[in-house]
Amino acid sequence: MQNAAILTVDDDPSVSRSVARDLRRRYGDRYRVIRAESGSTALDALREIKLRGEQVAVLLADYRMPGMNGIEFLEAAMDVFPLARRVLLTAYADTDAAINAINIVDLDHYLLKPWNPPEEKLYPVLDALLEAWLATPAVTMPETKVVGHRWSARSFAVRDFLARNLVPYRWIRADEAEGARLLAAAGLAEADVPVVITTDGKALARPTETDLAAHVGMATTPASDLYDLAVIGGGPAGLGAAVYGASEGLRTLLVEQRATGGQAGQSSRIENYLGFPDGVSGAQLTDRARRQAQKFNAEMLTTREVVGLERQDPVTLLRFSDDTAVAAHTVVLATGVSYRLLNAPGLADLTGRGVFYGSAAIEAPNCSGEEIYIVGGANSAGQGAVYFSRFARKVHILIRGDDLTRSMSRYLIDQIEGIANIEVHPNTEVVGGEGRDHLERLTLCDRRSGRVATVPTSWLFVFIGAEPRTDWLGDVVARDGNGYVLTGSDLLADGSRPAGWAPSRDPYHLESSMPGVFAAGDVRAGSVKRVASAVGEGAMAVSLVHRYLEGR
Ligand SMILES: Cc1cc2nc3c(=O)[nH]c(=O)nc-3n(C[C@H](O)[C@H](O)[C@H](O)COP(=O)(O)OP(=O)(O)OC[C@H]3O[C@@H](n4cnc5c(N)ncnc54)[C@H](O)[C@@H]3O)c2cc1C
Repeated sequence: MQNAAILTVDDDPSVSRSVARDLRRRYGDRYRVIRAESGSTALDALREIKLRGEQVAVLLADYRMPGMNGIEFLEAAMDVFPLARRVLLTAYADTDAAINAINIVDLDHYLLKPWNPPEEKLYPVLDALLEAWLATPAVTMPETKVVGHRWSARSFAVRDFLARNLVPYRWIRADEAEGARLLAAAGLAEADVPVVITTDGKALARPTETDLAAHVGMATTPASDLYDLAVIGGGPAGLGAAVYGASEGLRTLLVEQRATGGQAGQSSRIENYLGFPDGVSGAQLTDRARRQAQKFNAEMLTTREVVGLERQDPVTLLRFSDDTAVAAHTVVLATGVSYRLLNAPGLADLTGRGVFYGSAAIEAPNCSGEEIYIVGGANSAGQGAVYFSRFARKVHILIRGDDLTRSMSRYLIDQIEGIANIEVHPNTEVVGGEGRDHLERLTLCDRRSGRVATVPTSWLFVFIGAEPRTDWLGDVVARDGNGYVLTGSDLLADGSRPAGWAPSRDPYHLESSMPGVFAAGDVRAGSVKRVASAVGEGAMAVSLVHRYLEGR
């Protein structure tokens, strides 16, 4: 039960630390002890544990906490881990509340503070609860299963899609006994993988992402044909626009081609976003933003790519790749940027089979004890290196420049310098990759000496620069030479308004050359490539949407 957790939550940091210390002393070799200082951060931790498919054995919550008290936390936690044993920590004066909680949250025990000495007051209680938890017949919770091949780009794509959409699943290799049993039960063969078995027992052979989305409960078709605001792209800018638009009463549709969260969703730890002093993972931030947008009734479509915009006054039509369309009075383009492909012989064929773009966090446990290579010198590469260093024996960062100082934030450089199993290789490029069914060797070139060397590895994670994917916009909105959408005063560069511009005013700050169509976040020319600025521009775009609608 190495993976099972004991979670303790107390708003008083010194109490929280000492409970955790006492727990670790006795149970640290068998359980992971996790501590939180508020009900909401503890719930976030539980959701992450759930997504990783791990278990929680016992929850200990202090009764008196601001915001969410211990009983409210335990009640919410029951939805995530119904089998975890529940303990309330109380002061003598709150004994009545603790007794009431026995009914409300089916409390297993309440512990009076202080619990010293733990040998007498804490451990006997916990020993009994852990014993009872271990003896609970495992309730077979319905779960999505993915059966596939270890080195298959399609199997990777399915797992990556589910993980990025925060759908928990169990990964079973087709060459394992259980994989074979599941395939046989579904009447399928190894040639049909990847096979996804949904929670209601349907087997989907080689599903498209849209099939998959629909079967795991994500919306893929719009409920209406007209919206006040359509947001294209579900990264921080798009989610920001959807939250503000929907919360301010606009009928809001968000359309995402793959997984909400965008680039930020791939980050293992965002440390500089305001309000998260301990950092926040991209998955956690996305989950919160998505729930916030849903709370305000923003409609969200996944696996729908917008391939065209067309003005049909007074609305704009968004065309999808299946030739259907939806209309909106206003549009926010929040399509961000995508990684550039690494152009070296052999790599294209190995994508998804040892060569990955972005952090591909689901592969981290598979890198245990191995040497891995990361290409790129910006913050995203640095975060990836720090994250993978916990799994891999050695992480090599390859950069073209002399050092990281020009491209990476100081806090990340300091972290990397303090991690013994990360090595930075300056002036180094990947010039080739080879392998039979997956990556087995990389060829590296020292840019100063021209010396070429071959290294054995099965793992290459590429984090090189990014570019907007806006070709589908054609001439509908003005873009700069690199494809970024021009907005506001940038459209007046030569002193005149954009060609075909009808309103008797200049374009608003984030407005594109098509009136009522705004751009926010990384896709906008001149934007700052940060989570905070993307969210801020999403919010600002909505205030300009109101101005546009009022002025029509
Ligand atoms: C690994 C990594 C770590 C990072 N760490 C940090 C950090 O610590 N701090 C920080 O401030 N910034 C960080 N960044 C940068 C930050 O994530 C980006 O600046 C931010 O995500 C930009 O948000 P966005 O919404 O503009 O675009 P994106 O996040 O790029 O989202 C755009 C979305 O639009 C979707 N889309 C694109 N085209 C279409 C279409 N035609 N139809 C439908 N949907 C479409 C995409 O699938 C994507 O989900 C990091 C980036 C990466 C990759």
